[in-house]
Amino acid sequence: MIRGRWAPSPTGLLHVGSARTALTAWLSVRSQGGVFIWRTEDLDSDRVVRDAEHEAMEDLRWLGLDWDEGPDVDGPGGPFRQSQRIPVYDRALARLYESEFLFPCSLSRADVREAVSAPEGNGLAYPAHLRPSVVRPDWFENPIAEESVRFRVDPGLVTFEDRLFGQVSTDVSSETGDFVLKRKDGIYAYQLAVVVDDAAMGITEVVRGADLIDSTPRQILLYRALGEQPPAFGHIPIAVSPDGDKLSKRHNSLTIRSLRDSGVDPGDLCGYLAWTLGLIEQRRPIQPRELVAAFAWESLTRDRLIVPNSLVDILNGLQ
Ligand code: GLU
Repeated sequence: MIRGRWAPSPTGLLHVGSARTALTAWLSVRSQGGVFIWRTEDLDSDRVVRDAEHEAMEDLRWLGLDWDEGPDVDGPGGPFRQSQRIPVYDRALARLYESEFLFPCSLSRADVREAVSAPEGNGLAYPAHLRPSVVRPDWFENPIAEESVRFRVDPGLVTFEDRLFGQVSTDVSSETGDFVLKRKDGIYAYQLAVVVDDAAMGITEVVRGADLIDSTPRQILLYRALGEQPPAFGHIPIAVSPDGDKLSKRHNSLTIRSLRDSGVDPGDLCGYLAWTLGLIEQRRPIQPRELVAAFAWESLTRDRLIVPNSLVDILNGLQ
């Protein structure tokens, strides 16, 4: 059974680029008759924006997407909000500790940057020589606030086949080094939570933005350490503004909400997304379900999407 998911962080309004990725994830699952899951990644409470989950759901429903399991429909793999899944991460972390993959780290990012001077690393990687030589015997059972928990990475290439970008090979030990699974403030890191959840929810394919492709090799190491089978991966090129910046809060006019409020028709937006993905040859109004039968990964473009500032006028036929 194919199981895919859409896993947004509720940190603000959805942009055109996120909707384009969600559409692709949904089409891939629907074209294989699979189950589509919504999971809200709300662990970083400082970044969570109230109502963002609800608004994102409304926006994607307006576009014509649906999901079979999620915070608002439940399902066997729930709960579907990461903030409600802490015991699941606790258990996974304990397993990794028992298998001796973990160690405590009291260094800050600045300490690591300072300790790793060129040519040894890129300033952010955490090389093996920074691992503590002595640790408190009860560091795991009795954690202290000054310590994060890191995952030990051994040298060696991690290779996976991306559905869009083909073969990707990385030596995580030199690219990233030992990485954090639990922050000093006790919050579980994205890398741990996403792997534990995708495994627990039986996800067979992960479709997400290409800005996360560098995370995938780290996640594959976690799958291996947990004795789980990694899913298939497909990373969708991100959307940028004409000046090349990733769409962010500054680009308010390119949120789905703003387009809706300006009278854009969902079929026109879907047609634009499908056309820029390479799924239809000419821009025309279309519904997501009309794209299901012909969906093929081979049709998708690898190019970033440059979204014109005047998108609303284009979609409203004014330009
Ligand atoms: N929560 C992540 C985000 O919104 C996506 C995680 C994923 O799809 O793996 O960027």
